[in-house]
Amino acid sequence: MIGTPGNSVMNITSERFGTMCDGQEVCLFTLANNAGMKVRFINYGAVIVGIDVPDRQGTVGDVVLGHNSLEGYLNRSRYFGALVGRYANRIAGGRFSLNGIDYQLATNNGENHLHGGVKGFDKVVWAAKETNDGFQLKYFSQDGEENYPGNLEVFVTYTLNDANELRIEYVATTDRDTIVNLTNHSYFNLAGDGTVLDHKLQINADAFTPMDIRLIPTGEIRPVSETPMDFTSSQAIGARIDQSYEQLQIACGYDHNFVLRGKLGTLRTAASIYEPATGRVTEVLTTQPGMHFYSGNFLDGAVTGKGGRAYVKHSGCCLEPHHFPDSPNHPNFPSTVLTPGEEYRHTTVFKFSAAAATQ
Ligand code: BGC
Repeated sequence: MIGTPGNSVMNITSERFGTMCDGQEVCLFTLANNAGMKVRFINYGAVIVGIDVPDRQGTVGDVVLGHNSLEGYLNRSRYFGALVGRYANRIAGGRFSLNGIDYQLATNNGENHLHGGVKGFDKVVWAAKETNDGFQLKYFSQDGEENYPGNLEVFVTYTLNDANELRIEYVATTDRDTIVNLTNHSYFNLAGDGTVLDHKLQINADAFTPMDIRLIPTGEIRPVSETPMDFTSSQAIGARIDQSYEQLQIACGYDHNFVLRGKLGTLRTAASIYEPATGRVTEVLTTQPGMHFYSGNFLDGAVTGKGGRAYVKHSGCCLEPHHFPDSPNHPNFPSTVLTPGEEYRHTTVFKFSAAAATQ
């Protein structure tokens, strides 16, 4: 138990979660606040394995998909709760050029590079250090890892306060020009069961980045108005998901980057989801320019997670604040280049609450 300024007493515990085949220990860290909320994460993949949140009756439930054991994360994960990097989402053909040099990254999604490659940041063991109100995890990604240039030192800090805000802070530095795009890949289901089709979603975005059939952005920035991509007012996720809109058909649902309102680098509200039966609400605040909304389209029941639950299509949805997919190949997208002496720094906050009455 420790006391932190403005945050009466936070309960922080750690215990063994499992052992990697090379003998490395993986620990489970729990942050518990005074408002009945708990966040649990492990230092394998910096994975958030559980987020326990009270509903409008005060009943606490876990609102993220995942596994009970390390074995599940090692063998059957779909990036559940993980920190993804060095580059979240896709890079076309795994190729990009920087300073006139062509790079061919590891490919792991057909011909594309997805979420950092064959062994991304979700599949490595991070070093953990306790801070005042949470934990800092550190990973040193070597020059050439997954064929990325530059040694990259990455820190992520998870903290929780009594306002039910889970704050994720990312910092990275490099010794050579490289590209970086980090996010968290939690799948939310605020009811703790069923699908997310009844969840109501609002996104502060007037535009999105359409994709081709490879799920690679075409480079276009298209207004959401008069399309089923318009979440500027709260809409049930399932309300328009089956419409014959080409972008929804390509991705079998939502799997798109939204261009957030407001200024890159400023922490502002990106989105909120509301689950009518439990009243649970998650607000997403971020400094990132975009947010990927993925409606769990490729979950097919093959993966069984916590409590033996089969994760079927739309069992959870991801709200992943990050830079736009494939940015290194689109000069009109905000740059993801990091140079020596610069600091990559981004913050995302997931704020949980329960609404008293149906919204
Ligand atoms: C991507 C999906 C991908 C999924 C993998 C999401 O972030 O947008 O296309 O299938 O991650 O779990």
